[in-house]
Formats: sequence, C-alpha cells, structure tokens
Amino acid sequence: MKKIVVIGSGISGLSISRMLSDEYDVEIVEKDPKFGGLIKCERIEGNLFHRVGGHVFNSRNNVVLDWFWSHFDKDKEFLSATRNAKIRLNGEFVGYPIENYLYQLPEQQLKPIVNELMDKLSEEKLQTTDYSNFKDFLIGNFGEELYKLYFGPYNTKIWNADLAEVPLEWLDGKLPMPKLREVLLSNILKNEESTMVHSTFFYPRRDGSQFIVNRLSEGLSINCSYQVQSIDFIENKGLSINNNDKIVNAIVYCGDVRQLSEIVHIKDDALQLAMKNVTDLVSNGTSNVLCETDDNDISWLYLPEEIFKAHRIIYTGNFSETNNEGSNRKTCVVEFSGKQDQQEMIKELGNLPGNLKPLAFNYEPNSYIIQNHNTRKNIALLKSLLKPYGVFLLGRFAEWEYYNMDKCIEAAMELKEENF
Ligand SMILES: Cc1cc2nc3c(=O)[nH]c(=O)nc-3n(C[C@H](O)[C@H](O)[C@H](O)COP(=O)(O)OP(=O)(O)OC[C@H]3O[C@@H](n4cnc5c(N)ncnc54)[C@H](O)[C@@H]3O)c2cc1C
Repeated sequence: MKKIVVIGSGISGLSISRMLSDEYDVEIVEKDPKFGGLIKCERIEGNLFHRVGGHVFNSRNNVVLDWFWSHFDKDKEFLSATRNAKIRLNGEFVGYPIENYLYQLPEQQLKPIVNELMDKLSEEKLQTTDYSNFKDFLIGNFGEELYKLYFGPYNTKIWNADLAEVPLEWLDGKLPMPKLREVLLSNILKNEESTMVHSTFFYPRRDGSQFIVNRLSEGLSINCSYQVQSIDFIENKGLSINNNDKIVNAIVYCGDVRQLSEIVHIKDDALQLAMKNVTDLVSNGTSNVLCETDDNDISWLYLPEEIFKAHRIIYTGNFSETNNEGSNRKTCVVEFSGKQDQQEMIKELGNLPGNLKPLAFNYEPNSYIIQNHNTRKNIALLKSLLKPYGVFLLGRFAEWEYYNMDKCIEAAMELKEENF
C-alpha cells in the first residue's frame, strides 16, 4: 500500500485524507498541538469561540454537498438558517448586501447614489465590464458614491491594501454581480438577498466547525505537534520528511506555499525558482475577540466606517443556542483586521453596539490571502514542477486561493481525481 503524508489538518487535509484512506496508507501531520487548522474552535468557560471567523457551511456544488452530508445527519446534527446580515451606517442598521437595501439610507445619502446609478443605467451599453483591479470593478459596478460610502472603506479595512492593486481573479465565482436593473428593481420590490453562497447556511447544532473537525477526523491517523521542516527526494526510494524520519510515496501539502522554498530541498533549479517566486505573496491576519453581547437577531454586522477599528461582528451565539452555555447573555466574535493591541481592542469594544464584554482573544496571522496578477500563473507552474516528485498542493494557503470550506473539499476531490 502506498504511503501518503498529508501536511496540515485543516478542512483541506482532513477531506483529502478521508478521500484517499480507503486505497492508501495516509498519515496527517500537524504542527499545532490541536488539529483542525482555521476551523477549530474552543470552549471558553462553556462559550464556543471560533478563533477565526465564525464558520458556517454551504456550497453551490451538489457533489460537494453529497460528500459532506455523507458524513453527517443534516437534520439531526445541523441547523439551517437564513442569513440576517446588516451594515452599521450613521448609527443605523442597513440591510446586506447594501445595493438591495438602498431605500433604507437617509434621503440625502440616497439621492446622489440613485442619480449615479440612473446615469450608469442609461450608459449601460457603453460601459466596460473589463476591469483590471478591484477598485475599478467596484466603482464600475456600483458607482463612486456607493464606493465612498461602503465598498471602499469596508474592503480597505478587510484587505489592508490599496484596492487598486488588488487584481480580480480571486473574485471568480465569489461575488455574483447583480445587474443595475436588478439592483433598482430589488429596491422597489424590496427583494431579499438570495444569490450569495452563504445567504442560507448550515451550522452544527453543537460545537460549531469543531464538530466538523471532530467528525472528519474520526478513524484518521493524525500526528499533532509535528512540524515538517524538510522534504528531500531520494531516487528509487521516494520522499524523505525531516531527514528520513518518514519515507513516503507522495505528499499533499496544505500549509503556506510561501514556506515551501525553505522546506523543499529537491535539487531542481526550475522548481527552486518557482518556489522563490511565491515567497513574497501577501496575506492579512485577523484579531478576534469572543464577547458577551446584548441580544439581537443579526448573524453578521459589517462595520465599514472608519470610526470603528473592527470590521465586523459575527453573532455566533445566534447560530446555535449551545454556543452560549457559559453565559446568560449571547456571545459573538468581533473581528479586527491585522494584529491589534489587546488594550486597544478592549477600548474599541466600548464604541460598538451591544454592551460587549470580552471573554477571550486570538490573533491569526494568515486569514485573507491577497493575490497579485501573477499568482495563479506562478502557482500553476509550481504545481506542475512538484507533481513529478509526488508533491501536491491543496487548500487556501497552499494554492493561494480565496477558498471557503466547500471549495477546499472541491479542490480535494479534483486533486484525487487527477492524481490518485
Ligand atoms: C475570517 C475568516 C472567516 C471564514 N469564514 C468561513 C465560513 O463562514 N465558511 C466557510 O466555508 N469558510 C470560511 N472561511 C474559509 C475557511 O476558513 C478556509 O477555507 C479553510 O479553513 C482553509 O482550510 P485549509 O485546510 O486549506 O487551511 P488551514 O485551516 O490553514 O490548515 C492548514 C494546516 O496546516 C498546518 N501546517 C502548516 N504548515 C505545516 C508544516 N510545515 N508542518 C505541519 N503542519 C503544517 C497548519 O498548522 C494548519 O493547521 C473563512 C476564513 C476566514 C479567514
């Protein structure tokens, strides 16, 4: 039986391991003491803390859904919900996505936005749909006014980057772009959002995404606190991990692609150059605070305004009652972009709605990947040069793709289909 080591125990590593373990001898190695990667959670005095984000699940791909639900009892083990997301503007709550709820804006803000959209509509046929960067794309689709009010400030906070420098490839299939006519109609008819992937979602009745980790890891061989520091290729023998500590036939790498050039010591100039070419990719981290909050019925609250340092609140306590077991209030996660000082964050919580009381903190250095114009080309080349040695890249940070959990599962399926 061929031996495969999967590096990383996030959703990507767990999924591919399950897919391969019938036919291969698969071992997962994980540098962290706990498995689960970004989607692992912990209990803080009974309350569930999503240490990164507030993971909910859905997919538009039926094959992914079938695979996922083959591991869970959808009705007994999961709750299904419709997203109730809001945007905090001028001290009020406006519906999300904002373009469907323009009618909720004050008149003086609404007028210039509608004027601009009407102008755009009359020039529709003349307009380009071929944008070279994220900023032009947002202005082209929604106008300068809406960009200034919401899209610019919010996305600048999240990306911590000049949006004119962010290319568009990552958007592929991510944001279904409404036509201007649909936007105006939605506002007149007061249509609810429906086309976005998480407009309805599934969430485990207990333990959030940790429940997904626990189930998918059942029966797998996982070696935690094991960091892969070197990979060598030995002719007629295979791949050697950490100076012959393990000799294997194939490796699926789900870690950070930028670290590969330090880890992979295979003597191949083209490969070494391809690994060097991805070392300067940029990612943005997030600082999360688990808080107690006053009750509300919101799932996500977006905070575009500069007066708030945080960029969103995820009301994870509303996803499942069992998330609030340590408190007689509800819980939520406040997300800040980048690494923030704890005292600063505590001060900031006082400006946010809900009488927030902090319970726990986490900083994750790798949350949002930022692609540049060459990223996809460089990663594709790197994959093709690693493949002959039996090394494969999988996941958000190995492929440097803006994957959600479902996309990680889909990528694992494709990897298996094409290579194993
Ligand atoms: C803020 C935020 C909110 C999100 N919300 C959602 C959501 O609601 N729904 C959704 O579907 N998706 C969501 N996502 C996306 C989702 O988190 C990712 O798609 C997914 O978790 C990526 O999994 P992964 O296995 O590819 O990577 P990771 O989870 O990062 O796993 C990689 C693992 O590899 C390990 N590793 C790395 N290098 C080594 C090494 N050398 N040796 C051993 N181990 C190593 C790491 O420790 C890590 O555990 C969100 C992401 C963020 C950042």
